[in-house]
Amino acid sequence: MRWGVFPTALTIYTVAAAAIRSHWFPRPELVLMSALLATAALAAAAERVLPFRLDWARISDEERQIDRKSWLALVALVDPVLKLVIMPTLLSLAMSAAPWLGRLRLFPSDLSLLVQWLYAVLLAELGSYWMHRFAHESATMWGIHSFHHNPARLYWLNGFRVNPLNMAWHQLASVFVLKLASTPDDIVQMVVALGVVIGVMQHCNADVRYDGWNQFFGTADLHRWHHAVDATEARSNFGTLTVFWDRIFGTYKHGHVGPTCVGIDGDAPANRGYLSDLWIAYRRNSDRARGTAILAETAEVSSTRPTSAATRCCATGVHN
Ligand SMILES: [Zn+2]
Ligand SMILES: [Zn+2]
Repeated sequence: MRWGVFPTALTIYTVAAAAIRSHWFPRPELVLMSALLATAALAAAAERVLPFRLDWARISDEERQIDRKSWLALVALVDPVLKLVIMPTLLSLAMSAAPWLGRLRLFPSDLSLLVQWLYAVLLAELGSYWMHRFAHESATMWGIHSFHHNPARLYWLNGFRVNPLNMAWHQLASVFVLKLASTPDDIVQMVVALGVVIGVMQHCNADVRYDGWNQFFGTADLHRWHHAVDATEARSNFGTLTVFWDRIFGTYKHGHVGPTCVGIDGDAPANRGYLSDLWIAYRRNSDRARGTAILAETAEVSSTRPTSAATRCCATGVHN
């Protein structure tokens, strides 16, 4: 059973990719939503039957509520604005400033579908990989990105706990680059669908065996290292869909058991609400990254929480 979960997720992806390619649905968004629901059902079932960490299964209502609101904000607001307004505007500006871009034939449309898919995944991931690395180096970007790293436990919905600005730079570095390279729309949508399936599975708190899949895909085995409290361990596996570029640039870290605890040292979501937590994570973590004193207001938040979730995780974490 442990070996069957990820191939099932890949089967969901393959059906979604075929649906996009063959235009089975009038709009690709319907395929993406169906793939999301199917993968979420698979991940939630695997977490119940095969929990990876029992202590990670205890998620407060406040945390779940913030994750749901974050998902809703990304799907209902951020993604449509990026797709319908920002990217088309930037694309038309880029094409009018550099019309030769369209004549470069940067996408290998003449090659087989598998080669086109692989080329698109690697091209999208190259920009995304470097933006993600920068987000761990720049104090301002880390303040924004840290909203994703705050939770001291991982489960399938964590993949959508993403600051809208983080989502914007990720999409511009991946999807927009594909569009600039004249990638056909159905191939772009196939890459986006892979992001939906992998994004759910790589945060899933299920004891799934990935083995050989770890060589290419951004699996939960690998992504847990990226969420490690230990900053040295967390400086690894920046890839989202694939760890291909991690292997090329020397940031690949492998191991099924994973780190002792995940989150940010001495920090945890304040669980005051979606917008409050976005702001608190930004202020607290960008300041810490700059080495300045923690602001009085965030210190006040900490004082109401004598032991951070991350510390509790280190103290009581038990691998199931
Ligand atoms: Zn990160
Ligand atoms: Zn993550």
